[in-house]
Amino acid sequence: MRFASLGSGSKGNGTLIEADGETLLIDCGFSVKDTVARLARLGKTPDQLSAVLVTHEHGDHLRGVPALARKYNLPVYITPGTFKAKALGNLPDVRFIEGYQAFELGPFSVQPVAVPHDAREPAQFVVTANQKTLGVLTDLGMITAHVQDSYQDCDALVLEANHDPVMLAYGSYPQSLKQRVGGPWGHLSNQQSAGFLEHFDVARLQQLVIAHISQQNNSLEAAELVLGPVSAGAGQVHYACQDQGFDWLEIH
Ligand SMILES: [Zn+2]
Ligand SMILES: [Zn+2]
Repeated sequence: MRFASLGSGSKGNGTLIEADGETLLIDCGFSVKDTVARLARLGKTPDQLSAVLVTHEHGDHLRGVPALARKYNLPVYITPGTFKAKALGNLPDVRFIEGYQAFELGPFSVQPVAVPHDAREPAQFVVTANQKTLGVLTDLGMITAHVQDSYQDCDALVLEANHDPVMLAYGSYPQSLKQRVGGPWGHLSNQQSAGFLEHFDVARLQQLVIAHISQQNNSLEAAELVLGPVSAGAGQVHYACQDQGFDWLEIH
């Protein structure tokens, strides 16, 4: 299994997962044209996608999904809450994720995970193929016991470290947005993300990607300062960026 990113952050997200010649796309926060260009960078075309999985209705995750699904006739896996939260128009093939129940999709077993985020029915994903497990965990305001349990068997992890609390507090966001981002239904700070890793067997991770890093309220230096020490045991550690995402990473 291998995985890559079209881009990561509040301007757009998209994660590719490939196994046995099938490729899933989790979220698409980019226009069709931009998505095609970003896929090409990773050696893919949209017609090679098997399905799109949606985490939640925020624009940086959902914006590009309807047009992409229509143009390339892709099935969309989505919770009923996320589906109802936005008018998506006609989609060619909607498959509802009911009650966070696990489902099979080609070579992939997908476990949706409920997370605290200010969306209607958000789901993050733990995806297993060929006995290897990748966890994608962004867009949550706090780590719950359920989240900590759900990701404990991951061999690779894409983990949000959205903001530095001091940069957020003194930054340019309006007060209400600061409270939202920093609150229990917003996003993980560097410190919350580090707290998650402290309760996690980091040594079992072949790949750790720190993701959804805010361009306004965080910096690579601030994230590395807090997350470097707790991620030292992982095989490889990467920091995803908004424009480039990250290149293919293998899980053996
Ligand atoms: Zn987001
Ligand atoms: Zn969100």
